Amino acid sequence: MPAKCAFPTCNNTQNIDKLSFFQFPLNESKVCAQWVAVVNRKKWIPTMSSKSCEKHFDISDFYNTKKKKRLKPDAVPKHIIAPDRIEEVFELDISIILILLSIIEV
Ligand SMILES: [Zn+2]
Repeated sequence: MPAKCAFPTCNNTQNIDKLSFFQFPLNESKVCAQWVAVVNRKKWIPTMSSKSCEKHFDISDFYNTKKKKRLKPDAVPKHIIAPDRIEEVFELDISIILILLSIIEV
């Protein structure tokens, strides 16, 4: 089943929209907590199948290999695509990150 982007306001779907999708960095709890903070879904924890589409990252967050677009290991999504298609740049709230970190590291 094609993965839908984890951002609640984003309708991009893997294999339907010609975009790159990236798994949540579950092994990197600090980076992962920042991703979760930006996704900003209530009581939501990412799984192995959770993915974000490339639209939420800056060009500088990527590097290219011969085969495909890759994400730098410390890249964090920062563009939220609002339903009205006006992009907002998300400011990370450090208090949210700290709460998330305490959840993830249990
Ligand atoms: Zn998306």
